[in-house]
Amino acid sequence: MKTYTKYLTINTEKRIELVNITREVEEAVEESGIKEGIVLVNPMHITASVFINDEESGLKQDFVEWLEKLAPKDFDYKHHQTGEDNGYAHLWRTIMGREVVVAITNGRLDFGPWEQIFYGEFDGQRNKRVLIKVIGE
Ligand code: ZN
Repeated sequence: MKTYTKYLTINTEKRIELVNITREVEEAVEESGIKEGIVLVNPMHITASVFINDEESGLKQDFVEWLEKLAPKDFDYKHHQTGEDNGYAHLWRTIMGREVVVAITNGRLDFGPWEQIFYGEFDGQRNKRVLIKVIGE
């Protein structure tokens, strides 16, 4: 069994941004040389998510509007008593998930027809890391 580890650094222009990282994950799988296995992708931060969905601009806005309804940015969260201002971002991360695992078949991500991997940044404008771990043979 082989393993391959890669870290992406993402620094978004906006505080909240959904970034398609499918190409970066495909590149890591190619670099690994692994043909059959799995790839794990997760942000190394508790105010960002990695999730799979459709690359469609309306849907991406829908996600952010839905999250804003569930956990508004300007709410007076208890977390803010620590001096932080990103209570919503922790909640959004938990709703949108920590990681994805994708099967690798014949050296390619074995996706359904519309599946794409997104990095969900909820408190950005600073360097954040994403771990990509490829395991297989
Ligand atoms: Zn915080």
